[in-house]
Amino acid sequence: MEMTETYKLYIETYGCQMNLNDTEIVSGIMREHGWETTDNIDNADAVLLNTCSVRENAESRIFKRLTHFSQKFKKRKNKLIVGVIGCMAERFNERLIDIQDIVSIVVGPDEYRKLPILLEHAMGGVKGVAVELSKVETYEDIIPLRTDGVNAWLSIMRGCNNFCSYCVVPYTRGRERSRSHTSIVEEVASLAAKGFKEITLLGQNVNSYHDKELNKDFADLISDCAIAVPQVRIRYTTSHPRDMSDRLIEVMASHDNICKHIHLPVQSGSDRVLKMMNRGYNREHYLGRISKIRELMPNIAITTDIIAGFPGETLEDHQLTLSLLQEVKYSGAFMFKYSPRENTKAFDMPDDIPEEEKLRRLNEIIDLQNKIAKEINHHEKGNIHRVLVECPSKRNPEDWMGRSDTNKVVIFPNPDAKFSQGDYVNVKIKRSSSATLFGEIVE
Ligand code: SF4
Repeated sequence: MEMTETYKLYIETYGCQMNLNDTEIVSGIMREHGWETTDNIDNADAVLLNTCSVRENAESRIFKRLTHFSQKFKKRKNKLIVGVIGCMAERFNERLIDIQDIVSIVVGPDEYRKLPILLEHAMGGVKGVAVELSKVETYEDIIPLRTDGVNAWLSIMRGCNNFCSYCVVPYTRGRERSRSHTSIVEEVASLAAKGFKEITLLGQNVNSYHDKELNKDFADLISDCAIAVPQVRIRYTTSHPRDMSDRLIEVMASHDNICKHIHLPVQSGSDRVLKMMNRGYNREHYLGRISKIRELMPNIAITTDIIAGFPGETLEDHQLTLSLLQEVKYSGAFMFKYSPRENTKAFDMPDDIPEEEKLRRLNEIIDLQNKIAKEINHHEKGNIHRVLVECPSKRNPEDWMGRSDTNKVVIFPNPDAKFSQGDYVNVKIKRSSSATLFGEIVE
């Protein structure tokens, strides 16, 4: 069926930055096939949910959303196409069509090139599923349709080979494969030319990036990106402590435009639990990385991920996680209670920590981490940060927000919007909370 008119696509994105960038890649693919994206679901001919499977509640949210669609679009049922893409599509595959009648297409993270034809068939009433995982697909030739004008997400690789025992990512995103070094440096240069002031290099484990042909690793890549666009801030996420090399730390320290923030997920402070998680490092190694990082970049901000209540975690193990927070003093952390995921190795381990005890441990971790972050931010008083201006503050439009080089949210008065998105301002910090710095612009 020839696509004679311009169809409109509405995409809802859930989960991590990789999914944010995938939505931009999908929009780029669809644009090449004559589709437009819309922010208004009522104008859409097709709706795609770009989903996350990292924890159970991420998936139940999608089921609720699909149920809502079935009710909301009951009358429009024939005309509107609803599709599920991303990690949940890979995990549930055709079952999603059986579970939710409103779903017409299910497409996994490595099959987005098939979306135009699958949508065309679905408009003809033919439902479709594409969930093959690929060893080579990186969408390197696709120009993502990016929205936000300050920060650009750029996926440098896809998949993960680490198989941490609690994680679904290796099953939903497949084996690791890296984009070519040249294509990434070229894209960084074109993003700078388009006016992006910040670029975040993305991967499940960026430290294992490798361009086999040029034999270039992540330290080479980020160094060449920083040199290519000295006026642009370069950030990256996510790192794996086992692969955090001295060379990468030295490269970070030697380039001013590589932002001084590292997200280094630790998950637990106990060697016993780290072993059961198959994380591939122990507490001593992790702390060794932290001191190496701080030796070369004393003012760097470090954030992490923590899982509370992993199967078999004892109170001693939990105490070791609390003491590690005390020792490292993170600027921030993503903290969750363990969520069993089907097909992962940990799923076969007895989930023996009662829910309320998981919650108690999680709250103890959150309280301690918030106290530490509050203390760290309290000592920011009087410091001057170079802030990249983003947008008016949600709370008070007189105030604007931006981010420091250390990736902290900074709120400052910007009367008459003298400074706008993409400008840099120096802000002297006057007060703070555990998550935010507040200050005033100084010349
Ligand atoms: S490194 Fe571990 S936690 Fe991170 S995506 Fe890979 S398997 Fe999952």
